[in-house]
Amino acid sequence: MKTRDKFLPFSKPSINEATISAVGDVLRSGWITTGPNCSKFETAICQYTDSKHAIALASATAGMHILLKALDIGPGDEVITPSLTWVSTINLITLSGATPVFADVDRDTLMITPESVKAVMSARTKLIIPVHYAGAAADLDGIKAVTDEYGIPVVEDAAHAIGTAYKGRHIGQSLAAIYSFHPIKNITTGEGGMFTTDDDELAAKIKQLKFHGLGVDAFDRNTQGRSPQAEVLTPGYKYNMSDIAAVIGVKQLAELDRFNARRTELAKLYLEKLAGIDELLPLALPKYEFKHAWHLFIVRIVSDKLDRDAFIEAMKKRNIGIGLHFRAVHLQKYYRENMPLTEGALPNTVWNSDRICSLPLFPAMTEQDIDDVITAIKDVMK
Ligand SMILES: *Cc1c(COP(=O)(O)O)cnc(C)c1O
Repeated sequence: MKTRDKFLPFSKPSINEATISAVGDVLRSGWITTGPNCSKFETAICQYTDSKHAIALASATAGMHILLKALDIGPGDEVITPSLTWVSTINLITLSGATPVFADVDRDTLMITPESVKAVMSARTKLIIPVHYAGAAADLDGIKAVTDEYGIPVVEDAAHAIGTAYKGRHIGQSLAAIYSFHPIKNITTGEGGMFTTDDDELAAKIKQLKFHGLGVDAFDRNTQGRSPQAEVLTPGYKYNMSDIAAVIGVKQLAELDRFNARRTELAKLYLEKLAGIDELLPLALPKYEFKHAWHLFIVRIVSDKLDRDAFIEAMKKRNIGIGLHFRAVHLQKYYRENMPLTEGALPNTVWNSDRICSLPLFPAMTEQDIDDVITAIKDVMK
């Protein structure tokens, strides 16, 4: 058995000394909650994603919560999304009282398609939430072609997709997009999220809901403090981002293009080096024009000798960390028991849920690290 000396995690944030020192500056400044650094981060995200509004939040999950609230989605409504995604979207749809309705994914891109969306649309459908899976772009034009006719809005789960472009523009050109800055994502703020939209009314609602329904930030730019006149316009939540997190985001965003270029190089190396290994099936790239953010390098384990879970264990013994993004949500305990689907439903989702895993991919990885992963895979598959 060939083993690396040091454990290779499947993901690791790249934080430079300038970022650490900028955090120190914020801590010494006397203003550490939502403030000038949040404003700076939001402005930079607007520019980077070509959006009119950007609202910094505690997490992407928080953004999904207040999006559903802002759109008044609740009992009797249906929201179409994949089951092959992170659990947060489906949990929040369920908690809102609405019903999550799952569109099957393409077997090889893991994304919902215009056809699979159309197949589950109903008179109760209020919203479609595609996921830009692994950093590739979902087929937004195709999906909008089937939803626009009924006036159903699309909101993009962009947790994997900062830096992803679709037909020449940054993604997030539908009603809204929600980004995550959890430590495994392409840029991080420790924990954090960002809501972007071009819709003035929706932006105003999200700003209110993220901070007690006050309709203002904790920070008032004119008084350099909290606006004393603020009063509750609607009951809201407490989902603002701190300036400690935001300054990390500002520094990370400045490095994003370099990070994603490195991720792209590493992904190309994987594709070359995996070409002769039949037991690992990488994803296919969509045919339309897009720019990949390479958030994850996903493969499906298609060996008849060992399954995905055994593969992950065997790689761990060889000091290689393997991720799992994701187990289908409808197959997890609560959803299995409370919202069982008919036998044979979502065949592509189920097939992938049993087989997918994520090989290590992060900007600081070296070519030697890739070679170690490939060596371990060959050793495991022997
Ligand atoms: C990470 C992730 C989220 C949630 O992001 P948080 O910032 O952790 O709330 C949502 N959707 C997908 C697809 C994700 O990968």
